[in-house]
Amino acid sequence: MAVSGTVRVRIAPSPTGFAHLGTASTSLYNVLFARQNSGVFVLRIDDTDMERNRPEYEALIYESLHWLDLDWDEGPDKGGPHQPYRQSERVDLYKEHAARLLKEGNAYRCYCTPEELEAERRQAQAEKRPYKYSRRCLTNPPEGRSVFAVRFKVPGGEVTFTDMVRGEMRFDADLIGDFIIVKSDGYPTYQFASPVDDALMRITHVIRGEEHLSNTPYQLMLVDALGYERPHAYAHMPLILAADGSKLSKRKHPEANLILFRDRGYLPEALLNYLALLGWNPGTAQEIFSFDELRQAFSFERVQHAGARFDWEKLNWINGEYIRRLSDDELALRLKDFVPPLVDEETLRRAVPALKTRLPTLAQAVEYLDYLQTDPTPQAFDAETAQRIRLAIDFLKPVRWEPEAIEAALEEAIAQSGVSKGKFYNPLRDALTGRKVALPIHYAFALLPKEEALKRLERAA
Ligand code: GLU
Repeated sequence: MAVSGTVRVRIAPSPTGFAHLGTASTSLYNVLFARQNSGVFVLRIDDTDMERNRPEYEALIYESLHWLDLDWDEGPDKGGPHQPYRQSERVDLYKEHAARLLKEGNAYRCYCTPEELEAERRQAQAEKRPYKYSRRCLTNPPEGRSVFAVRFKVPGGEVTFTDMVRGEMRFDADLIGDFIIVKSDGYPTYQFASPVDDALMRITHVIRGEEHLSNTPYQLMLVDALGYERPHAYAHMPLILAADGSKLSKRKHPEANLILFRDRGYLPEALLNYLALLGWNPGTAQEIFSFDELRQAFSFERVQHAGARFDWEKLNWINGEYIRRLSDDELALRLKDFVPPLVDEETLRRAVPALKTRLPTLAQAVEYLDYLQTDPTPQAFDAETAQRIRLAIDFLKPVRWEPEAIEAALEEAIAQSGVSKGKFYNPLRDALTGRKVALPIHYAFALLPKEEALKRLERAA
């Protein structure tokens, strides 16, 4: 879609819980669109829920987005021409806008108590009609009350807008009741603060999750009533569903927690690649996309409408592909935070070629390398097995301690033993690592100091 003037997009995460996976995917789509159009990407913190905001959650939003290298051009920490970018610091602005709507008759004070509203709702239910506020406080406000909220007077009619994913959208605003824009504590609702800020911050395209699709007509009516220019277009992106197809919940699904992907050893560029494909279909068989390739290929027309199920297997595959494409040095560097503290740099570097071909995640390296610092519990082997371990020791003793020489020596030992590779190697692996998951045996040997490796075999034999 060709756009005149500077493209300005934004994300508006709420710091009311740990940063959500959806924030990463929404950010990615915003950044891709901004970069495609030489536009500006704004980070606005939606922190008007005073009871649930926590500064540590805000910090986690920055940390997660930095980890993903999805950098913003304007934001609370960076400033910009439309600061402040934290909604809690913009409350006076919302109050001014509410005052204007009140003065022009587009909003009114509502003194109804929660109990009265609940009674209205129940009545509607009993009469089997969709609930809409009765407008009691517009037509016949109760006297002698001082606590009030501010309600927008919904003009009704049809609200239409362009959605870059879904095409032309139409909503019947006659179904929408007058809704609250300022709560009795003086704080704006999301429904009010969001369009006011989008207008003041000159946001041209609102790209956000599908759960906000039904909010758009509310917000557009407010923009119109305030006499602001509407954003050019919206894009409502498919919801990310849990692997089981249910709604992604922070409580039930670990995949909802964005920073967990870092801690489990996913590469940020692999996660972005995966997230791009989760809601968007490139139309070709290509599955691995660098950020630049995404920037060139991405378009909203190829974004799917239905919710997208999270798929660990696919993510692991993509992550493994990215791991295999790293240079040995780069992989060693990235593994540093994950490997057991006793594995020194030199050993890690020697392990990298073997790790590279089998790691789905960086964190998995721990399982492969843990035996270097954890002495396996000795186990009892039968006499025949013990004899084969002895044979291995004899062949290993004279060799230069590096994978190829070790492999050659072990193959000779196998030939002499007359048993299969598997039968010969399994007890050796057990004696050496005490684990089922291990690097190829010659690597497992070579990474341990020779005396230590032979000591473990002696003990087992
Ligand atoms: N705080 C809202 C959210 O995180 C922002 C929605 C929007 O982009 O308007 O879902």
